[in-house]
Amino acid sequence: MSNRAAPESISLSYLNAIEYCPRRFYYEFVQGDMLENEFVLEGTLLHQRADQPGQHTTQEGEIQINHLYLYSEELRLSGFADVVEEEEGVLIPVEYKHGKEGKWLNDHVQLCAQALCLEERLPNKATIPYGYIFYFGSRKRVQVHFTPDLRAKTRAAIDLAFQIAALDTPPPPLDGKVAARCRDCSLLSLCLPEEVKLLTSRKGSSFADTLFD
Ligand code: SF4
Repeated sequence: MSNRAAPESISLSYLNAIEYCPRRFYYEFVQGDMLENEFVLEGTLLHQRADQPGQHTTQEGEIQINHLYLYSEELRLSGFADVVEEEEGVLIPVEYKHGKEGKWLNDHVQLCAQALCLEERLPNKATIPYGYIFYFGSRKRVQVHFTPDLRAKTRAAIDLAFQIAALDTPPPPLDGKVAARCRDCSLLSLCLPEEVKLLTSRKGSSFADTLFD
């Protein structure tokens, strides 16, 4: 049950968190909790370098726009694309990430949501076929195709974000195979997933919720 009103809009960057872990999204979006671990700090510094706003033309004559503001009235999203490139008349979002490509889809979902925002502004319902994620850790530019499956996952992540944002308390920690994500999560020391799960199993969820909300 929830008494909290759903937000009017959600920032694109939080879609990365909701896809990674709904509990993490709740801490960051609803409670404003953000702890810096080495990955977060590295990512912040890299974005400070990549986020210099401006537009320029490449040697090939194509336009690149840095730090472009995006929004979607339909999806109730807003935020920035690190870079939007124009390739043969098609707009291509590019996102910069620290580290290497992960096993999870959170970066792909964030990029696809940027494409959905861009598409809403395009004439004739044109679609954007792909975007890129540049991983500084591996110096690799990964092409991400905006397949029907990725588009559906992205829309599901957006719906979930609005549902979780309306909850009065954080959802439970990740469990099962996906709990492997907790190891690299910057909110591990705040979330205490194993301790919460232990208390929940011993005392029931209401006791654990009381301690850790
Ligand atoms: S530690 Fe695990 S359960 Fe907790 S917020 Fe991070 S990913 Fe989610």
